[in-house]
Amino acid sequence: MKLICPVCGKTYDKPVQRCECGEPVEFERFKGEPYIGRSVWERFWDFWPVEPALEFSLGEGDTPLVKSRLGEELGVKLYLKNETVNPTWSFKDRGTFLAMSHALKAGYKTVGTVSTGNMAASVSAYATRAGLKAKILVSESASDEKLKAVSVYGGEVIRVLGDYGRLYFESLAIGEKLGIYFINSDNPFRVEGYKGIAFEIAEEISPDYVLIPTSSGGLFRGVVKGFIELHESRLIDRVPALIAVQAEGCSPICRAFSEGKARIERFESPKTIAKAIANPYPPSGNAVLKFLREFDWKCVSVGDDEILEAQRKLAGEGLFVQPASATGVAALRKLELPEGAKVVSILTGSGLKTLNDTPAGEIRECRLEELEKCLG
Ligand SMILES: *Cc1c(COP(=O)(O)O)cnc(C)c1O
Repeated sequence: MKLICPVCGKTYDKPVQRCECGEPVEFERFKGEPYIGRSVWERFWDFWPVEPALEFSLGEGDTPLVKSRLGEELGVKLYLKNETVNPTWSFKDRGTFLAMSHALKAGYKTVGTVSTGNMAASVSAYATRAGLKAKILVSESASDEKLKAVSVYGGEVIRVLGDYGRLYFESLAIGEKLGIYFINSDNPFRVEGYKGIAFEIAEEISPDYVLIPTSSGGLFRGVVKGFIELHESRLIDRVPALIAVQAEGCSPICRAFSEGKARIERFESPKTIAKAIANPYPPSGNAVLKFLREFDWKCVSVGDDEILEAQRKLAGEGLFVQPASATGVAALRKLELPEGAKVVSILTGSGLKTLNDTPAGEIRECRLEELEKCLG
């Protein structure tokens, strides 16, 4: 199986993580047919670059697609892909599981990642599950509170003092030297794992648009590749329009797109409540930009107030997501999509991970003696 650079086109026969030109690499496109099976891994068996190590699965994927009322006032049909129900409460588990399958097969004893949030927890959990050691590199500023959800699984959490932006590339280089397999945000196996989101959506509906909260760009690339492979396998008639959504306070991809630039530039002093999508220099940014241009897709950025409003509305439907995951619904309002369009928004991660950033709802107090009056 060859790897190919989606930006310059160079191909590789060995399992490299990045192209010599500095951009990510991805597996050539797969073609196949669906099978009957319990999990997305089995139903789309032809489409994975490595045999999924099902004995180490924690039940990631196969998440619900929920019809939402929130599209009604805008005249669109809105569906929510609820990724918050994954084993560590974000879609990262899909990619972690597939990359872990590769690490096991290739004989690695230790895996690693660079993250402070959902990916750190996911790699920590799946490493433990597969009996591998984990080295989780986090930034100087990561709060102790947040790191509890990572260290609880037993992975080694290391605060790295220094330029966090360089850590992504340094970890790949040093990992290769020491035999540690780093599963970072847009690792080629991780991106392949995200294709399952597209596969599952296509099993249920044929959307016109898919809204994707975008940080490193790994999720976006995975969902695009999934739909393209289904199309090339003649399993769907058309690829939906994909819309990258970023937070205004950190939107390097949207900025380069609207300014007509061919390459992203570092977003200085990022500041947003949507911390899970606040990568100032996304490692798959140029690859995402290329897709947006080629397909004439869109990039939308939303402000913190709009994000919090969308988070509240989603909670009002019974789905509590983190701010980053509410950006898709926040973007709907700005998009003016055609009447009756079928739209999927990916709810990427659970709100329980960011309780500190959540405005409190109303809480009343009542004396037991007055309960009847209180309830009346
Ligand atoms: C990782 C993450 C994203 C963005 O994914 P990328 O692959 O980095 O673009 C969006 N939302 C949540 C909750 C995440 O954890």
